[in-house]
Amino acid sequence: MQKGFYLDLTRCTSCYSCMVACKAHHPSLDETVYWRRVITLEKGTYPVVRLTNLSLSCMHCGTPACKIVCPTKAISKRAEDGLVLVNPDLCIGCKMCLMACPFGVPQFGKNGKMQKCDLCLDRLETGLTPACMNACPAKALHAGPMDELSSLANRKAANRLIRTTDPSFFV
Ligand code: SF4
Ligand code: SF4
Repeated sequence: MQKGFYLDLTRCTSCYSCMVACKAHHPSLDETVYWRRVITLEKGTYPVVRLTNLSLSCMHCGTPACKIVCPTKAISKRAEDGLVLVNPDLCIGCKMCLMACPFGVPQFGKNGKMQKCDLCLDRLETGLTPACMNACPAKALHAGPMDELSSLANRKAANRLIRTTDPSFFV
Protein backbone atom coordinates (compact mmCIF):
# COMPACT_ATOMS: atom_id res chain seq x y z
CA MET A 1 0.00 0.00 0.00
CA GLN A 2 1.29 3.42 -1.02
CA LYS A 3 2.35 5.56 1.94
CA GLY A 4 2.15 9.34 2.14
CA PHE A 5 1.15 12.35 4.23
CA TYR A 6 -1.99 14.18 5.30
CA LEU A 7 -1.70 17.75 6.58
CA ASP A 8 -4.80 18.91 8.46
CA LEU A 9 -4.81 22.66 7.86
CA THR A 10 -7.61 23.12 10.39
CA ARG A 11 -5.17 22.03 13.11
CA CYS A 12 -1.80 23.28 11.87
CA THR A 13 -0.60 26.35 13.79
CA SER A 14 2.52 26.92 11.67
CA CYS A 15 4.76 26.33 14.69
CA TYR A 16 7.61 24.84 12.59
CA SER A 17 8.02 21.86 14.98
CA CYS A 18 7.84 19.43 12.03
CA MET A 19 10.61 21.24 10.16
CA VAL A 20 12.81 21.41 13.27
CA ALA A 21 12.19 17.75 14.17
CA CYS A 22 13.09 16.65 10.64
CA LYS A 23 16.33 18.60 10.77
CA ALA A 24 17.14 17.26 14.23
CA HIS A 25 16.51 13.68 13.14
CA HIS A 26 18.97 14.05 10.28
CA PRO A 27 21.91 15.80 12.01
CA SER A 28 24.30 15.09 9.14
CA LEU A 29 22.41 17.36 6.73
CA ASP A 30 24.20 20.55 5.63
CA GLU A 31 22.84 23.68 7.30
CA THR A 32 21.08 24.89 4.15
CA VAL A 33 19.37 21.54 3.49
CA TYR A 34 15.83 20.93 4.75
CA TRP A 35 13.94 17.77 3.84
CA ARG A 36 10.76 19.33 5.29
CA ARG A 37 10.00 23.01 4.97
CA VAL A 38 7.12 25.21 6.06
CA ILE A 39 6.45 27.39 3.04
CA THR A 40 4.10 30.37 2.68
CA LEU A 41 1.64 30.49 -0.21
CA GLU A 42 -0.16 33.65 -1.29
CA LYS A 43 -3.77 33.35 -2.45
CA GLY A 44 -6.07 35.97 -4.00
CA THR A 45 -5.25 39.31 -5.59
CA TYR A 46 -4.38 42.65 -4.01
CA PRO A 47 -5.88 44.02 -1.78
CA VAL A 48 -7.65 40.79 -0.79
CA VAL A 49 -4.68 38.51 -0.20
CA ARG A 50 -4.51 35.54 2.15
CA LEU A 51 -1.32 33.81 3.28
CA THR A 52 -1.35 30.07 3.98
CA ASN A 53 1.54 28.15 5.51
CA LEU A 54 2.11 24.64 4.23
CA SER A 55 4.44 22.01 5.69
CA LEU A 56 5.97 20.31 2.68
CA SER A 57 8.36 17.43 1.99
CA CYS A 58 8.67 14.86 -0.76
CA MET A 59 5.20 13.45 -1.43
CA HIS A 60 6.40 10.08 -2.76
CA CYS A 61 4.41 10.58 -5.94
CA GLY A 62 2.58 7.78 -7.73
CA THR A 63 4.27 8.88 -10.96
CA PRO A 64 7.46 10.52 -9.70
CA ALA A 65 8.80 12.93 -12.32
CA CYS A 66 12.16 12.92 -10.54
CA LYS A 67 12.52 9.18 -11.12
CA ILE A 68 11.41 9.37 -14.74
CA VAL A 69 14.02 11.95 -15.75
CA CYS A 70 16.99 10.63 -13.75
CA PRO A 71 19.58 9.50 -16.33
CA THR A 72 21.43 7.17 -13.97
CA LYS A 73 18.43 5.46 -12.33
CA ALA A 74 19.53 6.83 -8.97
CA ILE A 75 15.88 7.22 -7.94
CA SER A 76 13.62 4.24 -7.34
CA LYS A 77 10.07 3.65 -6.13
CA ARG A 78 9.55 0.77 -3.74
CA ALA A 79 6.89 -1.74 -4.73
CA GLU A 80 5.79 -2.48 -1.17
CA ASP A 81 4.99 1.06 0.02
CA GLY A 82 5.63 3.42 -2.90
CA LEU A 83 8.43 5.29 -1.15
CA VAL A 84 10.62 7.19 -3.62
CA LEU A 85 14.24 6.73 -2.57
CA VAL A 86 17.61 8.02 -3.79
CA ASN A 87 20.81 6.03 -4.18
CA PRO A 88 23.58 8.60 -3.65
CA ASP A 89 26.16 6.24 -5.13
CA LEU A 90 24.42 6.45 -8.51
CA CYS A 91 23.62 10.20 -8.43
CA ILE A 92 25.85 12.37 -10.62
CA GLY A 93 24.36 15.66 -9.38
CA CYS A 94 22.91 16.77 -12.72
CA LYS A 95 19.79 18.28 -11.03
CA MET A 96 17.39 16.94 -13.67
CA CYS A 97 15.20 15.72 -10.80
CA LEU A 98 15.03 19.21 -9.31
CA MET A 99 13.93 20.64 -12.66
CA ALA A 100 11.29 17.92 -13.07
CA CYS A 101 9.75 17.95 -9.57
CA PRO A 102 6.73 20.33 -9.53
CA PHE A 103 7.40 21.17 -5.88
CA GLY A 104 11.14 21.92 -5.82
CA VAL A 105 11.64 19.07 -3.38
CA PRO A 106 15.12 17.66 -4.34
CA GLN A 107 17.89 19.17 -2.20
CA PHE A 108 21.61 19.39 -2.86
CA GLY A 109 24.15 19.76 -0.09
CA LYS A 110 27.88 20.23 -0.26
CA ASN A 111 28.41 16.76 -1.75
CA GLY A 112 26.27 17.72 -4.79
CA LYS A 113 24.11 14.59 -4.53
CA MET A 114 20.33 14.65 -4.57
CA GLN A 115 18.68 14.06 -1.21
CA LYS A 116 15.16 14.34 0.16
CA CYS A 117 12.62 12.93 2.62
CA ASP A 118 12.56 9.14 2.90
CA LEU A 119 9.58 9.18 5.30
CA CYS A 120 12.09 8.45 8.10
CA LEU A 121 12.71 4.95 6.81
CA ASP A 122 14.90 4.17 9.82
CA ARG A 123 12.04 4.99 12.18
CA LEU A 124 9.41 3.17 10.07
CA GLU A 125 11.50 0.01 10.17
CA THR A 126 11.36 0.02 13.97
CA GLY A 127 7.60 0.68 14.07
CA LEU A 128 7.87 4.41 14.79
CA THR A 129 6.15 7.26 12.97
CA PRO A 130 8.21 9.86 11.05
CA ALA A 131 9.94 12.48 13.21
CA CYS A 132 7.81 15.33 11.76
CA MET A 133 4.53 13.61 12.59
CA ASN A 134 5.80 12.60 16.02
CA ALA A 135 6.78 16.19 16.85
CA CYS A 136 3.59 17.93 15.69
CA PRO A 137 1.96 19.26 18.91
CA ALA A 138 -1.35 19.95 17.12
CA LYS A 139 -1.61 16.46 15.60
CA ALA A 140 -2.00 18.12 12.22
CA LEU A 141 0.53 16.04 10.34
CA HIS A 142 -0.15 12.38 9.63
CA ALA A 143 1.88 9.80 7.73
CA GLY A 144 0.94 6.28 6.75
CA PRO A 145 -0.94 4.16 4.21
CA MET A 146 -3.05 6.25 1.83
CA ASP A 147 -6.33 4.43 2.65
CA GLU A 148 -5.95 5.35 6.34
CA LEU A 149 -5.03 8.93 5.47
CA SER A 150 -7.99 9.11 3.12
CA SER A 151 -10.39 8.20 5.96
CA LEU A 152 -8.90 10.89 8.18
CA ALA A 153 -8.96 13.46 5.37
CA ASN A 154 -12.57 12.69 4.43
CA ARG A 155 -13.72 13.60 7.93
CA LYS A 156 -12.29 17.10 7.42
CA ALA A 157 -13.33 17.43 3.76
CA ALA A 158 -9.64 17.51 2.81
CA ASN A 159 -8.63 16.36 -0.67
CA ARG A 160 -5.78 14.57 -2.30
CA LEU A 161 -3.48 17.05 -4.01
CA ILE A 162 -4.03 16.78 -7.76
CA ARG A 163 -0.92 17.17 -9.92
CA THR A 164 0.44 15.26 -12.91
CA THR A 165 2.87 13.39 -10.64
CA ASP A 166 0.03 12.06 -8.44
CA PRO A 167 1.46 13.20 -5.06
CA SER A 168 0.68 10.95 -2.09
CA PHE A 169 -0.58 13.90 -0.08
CA PHE A 170 -3.92 14.95 1.35
CA VAL A 171 -4.41 18.55 2.42
FE1 SF4 B 1 9.86 13.17 -6.88
FE2 SF4 B 1 9.09 15.67 -6.30
FE3 SF4 B 1 7.27 13.67 -6.32
FE4 SF4 B 1 9.12 13.76 -4.37
S1 SF4 B 1 7.49 15.29 -4.74
S2 SF4 B 1 8.49 11.94 -5.58
S3 SF4 B 1 10.91 14.61 -5.47
S4 SF4 B 1 8.45 14.42 -8.08
FE1 SF4 C 1 19.45 11.50 -10.96
FE2 SF4 C 1 21.23 12.65 -9.29
FE3 SF4 C 1 20.74 13.74 -11.70
FE4 SF4 C 1 18.87 13.86 -9.79
S1 SF4 C 1 20.91 14.84 -9.75
S2 SF4 C 1 18.54 13.31 -11.93
S3 SF4 C 1 19.19 11.89 -8.75
S4 SF4 C 1 21.66 11.74 -11.29
